[in-house]
Amino acid sequence: MPNITIAGGGFAGVWAALAAAATRHRNTADAIDITLVSKDADLCIRPRLYEGAKADMRVPLRPLLDTVGVTFAQQDVSGISDSAVQTRAGGTLDFDRLILATGSHLAMPPVRGASDHGFAVDDYVSTARLDAHLDGLDMSVARAATVVVVGASFSGLEIATALRDRLGPVARIILLDQGAVAGHSLGSNVTSAIAEALSRADITFVGEETVTEVTARRITLGSGTIIETDTCIFATGLRPSPLVHGLGAQASDGRLQVDAFLRLPSQPTLFAAGDVAAGQADADHMTLMSCQHAMPMGVVAGQNAVLDLLGQPLIRYAQPDYATCLSLGQSDAIFTQGWDRTVVLTGTEGAAMKAQINETWIYPPASTLGREAIFDTILPVSA
Ligand SMILES: Cc1cc2nc3c(=O)[nH]c(=O)nc-3n(C[C@H](O)[C@H](O)[C@H](O)COP(=O)(O)OP(=O)(O)OC[C@H]3O[C@@H](n4cnc5c(N)ncnc54)[C@H](O)[C@@H]3O)c2cc1C
Repeated sequence: MPNITIAGGGFAGVWAALAAAATRHRNTADAIDITLVSKDADLCIRPRLYEGAKADMRVPLRPLLDTVGVTFAQQDVSGISDSAVQTRAGGTLDFDRLILATGSHLAMPPVRGASDHGFAVDDYVSTARLDAHLDGLDMSVARAATVVVVGASFSGLEIATALRDRLGPVARIILLDQGAVAGHSLGSNVTSAIAEALSRADITFVGEETVTEVTARRITLGSGTIIETDTCIFATGLRPSPLVHGLGAQASDGRLQVDAFLRLPSQPTLFAAGDVAAGQADADHMTLMSCQHAMPMGVVAGQNAVLDLLGQPLIRYAQPDYATCLSLGQSDAIFTQGWDRTVVLTGTEGAAMKAQINETWIYPPASTLGREAIFDTILPVSA
């Protein structure tokens, strides 16, 4: 029986599994076996984690996959060869087509003490650890009431502004970055709105600084400044899953370069989608490590794995429309459109858009919808 294995149960992997199952069904290709292998039993809604780890940010995989006829294997993948994946438990899963979708993790900088004493908002476990730490702080002690967020790009900004809502006015929140301007990587169209939001939230931005050491009680900066704090949170960017190594050409950020069909040019039985893959979104732009690229890439990779097994023409991946929605606290967000990030909505209107994205659009269809409705949601018939 021909077999498709999907490694990773995040946005790319889940959307790939649903699209592959829909394509199999519509081509009456029931003989194709589809297996999703992931180390976690849930899809983690990572973009919401700046709110803190909440139960509804974990979507159980098994009910959804059972509904569409995809086998779920909860295993940690340790290696990939031409026609099989190896698991850390010592098992092997053979495949005819593989979709690699093992995502990304925080790129923790090589700072002394960071891995022991630093915090992260990267996955459910790291976020729950930070929550427990924050809940235990004695806010009457200056050191405990001081929180430092390292990295003033998308995630760092969302984490720092959410902390103001969570910790109240007593907390001293410092946002630190090696760049001179908060949110500089997001472009000049949004930096003044970001600066205003930080000022409104009473968040101190410290630019052109790095952290050189973290202990349980303080951090040391490159300039020699010492900040007494119990809490240093790193938001220093994402790095693709280590499984990309040795599989093919990598972009400068480590992601696998994929062709227009999301295949690895050197290994055409391997597809890659989501944060492990650098695809061409349009003629001028590569995909970013984001849900808005991971989900559609998953859909195309899922369809193509089935179509390839059936000897049918593959579908080209393209995604020229680009938007961002940056949360800046409970009632503030900036929604932009286009690769130059033209601001479309701010304030409460932006926050309403962020809530819609975070609480509806990035969730997979409910398993209770039933198989046909799930297929129609993931792969509308007109598509
Ligand atoms: C704090 C934060 C905020 C974000 N905000 C936004 C936002 O506002 N908008 C946006 O578009 N994106 C945002 N992102 C990025 C977004 O979450 C990622 O781009 C998205 O999760 C990528 O999806 P993915 O499926 O490629 O990988 P992931 O969601 O990382 O999923 C990877 C899956 O693979 C599994 N896995 C990993 N390694 C193995 C292994 N060895 N064996 C088996 N399984 C494995 C994991 O358990 C996981 O299920 C944010 C990310 C973070 C951390």
